[in-house]
Amino acid sequence: MTPSPPAEPLDLKSLLPDELRALVSRLGQDEYRAGQILSWIHGKGVEDIDQMSNLSRAFREQLKEVAGVSRLREVERQGSPGGQAIKFLFELPTLERVESVLIIDGKRRTACLSSQVGCALDCKFCATGRMGFLRNLSAAQIIDQLLQLSRVLLAERGERVTNVVMMGMGEPLHNYEEVVRALRLMRLEHGPAIGGRKVTVSTAGHVPGIQRLAREELNLGLAISLNATTDELRDQLMPINRKYQIAELLEAAAEYFELRGRRVTFEYVLLAGVNDHDEDALRLADLTRAVPCKLNLIPYNELAEDTPFRRPPAERVARFRELLETHTPMAVTLRESRGRDIDAACGQLYQAQERQPRPARTALPAPAG
Ligand code: SF4
Repeated sequence: MTPSPPAEPLDLKSLLPDELRALVSRLGQDEYRAGQILSWIHGKGVEDIDQMSNLSRAFREQLKEVAGVSRLREVERQGSPGGQAIKFLFELPTLERVESVLIIDGKRRTACLSSQVGCALDCKFCATGRMGFLRNLSAAQIIDQLLQLSRVLLAERGERVTNVVMMGMGEPLHNYEEVVRALRLMRLEHGPAIGGRKVTVSTAGHVPGIQRLAREELNLGLAISLNATTDELRDQLMPINRKYQIAELLEAAAEYFELRGRRVTFEYVLLAGVNDHDEDALRLADLTRAVPCKLNLIPYNELAEDTPFRRPPAERVARFRELLETHTPMAVTLRESRGRDIDAACGQLYQAQERQPRPARTALPAPAG
């Protein structure tokens, strides 16, 4: 008989309060100990159980026998010259790497987190898509990105992360359970306490995931990466469209608004000569007219060397925006990819780092004033 592989140690970083209380009770301790452990891990960033000094030595030993606290290894940090975005590259125990970005914009300090290593969805304009799917991140690995970014921001600028976007590597709704668990963890008062309106999940259009998220009491922001106004083009750019077509996606977005009272944001990456024609702007206005939404235009980030796509000239972007604004009652925004100068599109830092390993750490710029 082949021996079964050793069981993975329980990761305390991924446990929700009721699960931690159950564990603590099972070990013969009072339930309030769960709150202390949560504060150590999510509030103080302590991963060494021996450092949890308000737990008795005997209890710490008991805990160590059944559980541990994981941590991702930071392997690279890269800041944009303007200091508006800092990318972090983290290594998993399996040696695969994921990226997270800290975006500094006005009073907002936004952590952009990854949910998977690689991605199965193969969107044609995306560097992560070209990697293929490697693995799902655990809830602990997702929340740990936020905890580490928070620690750096606090240590170097004395500031706190105010917002979270699940827009890094991967399709969050393809790793639904772990992503939602991480989103519950980040709301806890013991830790970053970021939830509801301050958190946005971005999807390429996974309709069942949107429908499920609409039924969670999390009241999250939802961003849908649309990028085309005909199924014909979207089928080519985003193969997930062959399964969930634009009409179905718009219906799911409308339902999200009905159930959660929150407008979705449609993201539209402008690709020169592909989806940036006048007709595209008019169709985009028409398609989304019946869905309470916001429209966010993002001129393509051209940094990947082997991409066939180009960023439209500034005049084309301006014309597209003007046409759209004239024909839609919805709010239209134009977002520069804030990390344009630091490989900002998802997956690009990963690829750059793979090509040319160069351990480097960049200090955050000091806060103004
Ligand atoms: S854009 Fe998002 S969903 Fe599409 S391949 Fe890239 S990571 Fe995956």
